[in-house]
Amino acid sequence: MVSEYLKERFGTKVYKLSLSSGCTCPNRDGLIGMGGCTFCSEGGSGEFAAPPLPLEDQIRLARKRVDAKIPARIPPDERRYIAYFQSFTNTYVRTEAERIKLRSLYTEAVRRPEIAALSIGTRPDCLPPEILDMLADLQKVKPVWVELGLQTVHEKTAAAIRRGYSLPVFEKAVRDLKEIGVEVIVHVILGLPGETREEMLETVRYLAELHVHTAHSNNTPSAELPAGSGRAIDGIKLQQLQILRGTPVGEQYLQDPFPVMTLDAYCALIRDCLDLLPEDIVIHRLTGDGPKSLLIAPLWSADKKRVLNTMKRVLNTT
Ligand code: SF4
Repeated sequence: MVSEYLKERFGTKVYKLSLSSGCTCPNRDGLIGMGGCTFCSEGGSGEFAAPPLPLEDQIRLARKRVDAKIPARIPPDERRYIAYFQSFTNTYVRTEAERIKLRSLYTEAVRRPEIAALSIGTRPDCLPPEILDMLADLQKVKPVWVELGLQTVHEKTAAAIRRGYSLPVFEKAVRDLKEIGVEVIVHVILGLPGETREEMLETVRYLAELHVHTAHSNNTPSAELPAGSGRAIDGIKLQQLQILRGTPVGEQYLQDPFPVMTLDAYCALIRDCLDLLPEDIVIHRLTGDGPKSLLIAPLWSADKKRVLNTMKRVLNTT
């Protein structure tokens, strides 16, 4: 799990600071689509980010929240954080001025002594050469993770959720990121409308195969990833579909409710997903915890303690 991995890698517990880059999303502003992916809320799937203030202020505010949970025995100047830019598409720039501003923001972040790594959530179709150059430069200062929202490998579901890019675009993005040594974390959503359990497992199986093929073989898969050069997928985030008020999927559910997994069924699915994944893929997340005020279903996801206890029980009974 990610907490042990971070401790081992950085020699201390590392905390996430949710920050805003000020980027929007091409799937919301009309370049690719309007209204975004059907599950995405107004906050761009990152409700906990700091407001778009100067970085110094964002970090101060985010640290205030996070530091309340850090044991007092760790002095403030020994605390380490991940600068986490999750909401919207954090490599989406429309002008040269925006690109320069983004580079300066991320450069400022990686140069700060308390920042151990930079984590950037984005879309695979928003990684042009000049952005890859920027990521390569940042990576020379601190580890850079890029989080790609794949959600599913099934094109019919991708179309239904209006993801706005095809699987080969994802494969190219993984290849490009691995070529510059950036770590790749993939988001998968379990329980998208119309997907069977087997189809969800197929998405995870695909990622496992992509990873193993790249890490251990000289026969590259169709994605032509750099063979034997390391892991293709460094980390994975699995989460249940959160049906939120104000999203197209929320409207769809309210008008014509579709089946939603029970907590037990979800935990059993997670167990089967974990069985498919190679051990060297770091598990960053096993459930989603979106804003409770917007949650329509599944209501069990609002009870974090119950989710964690059930997950532990199901994972330990195999
Ligand atoms: S790409 Fe991300 S931010 Fe954009 S609409 Fe989809 S989930 Fe939301």
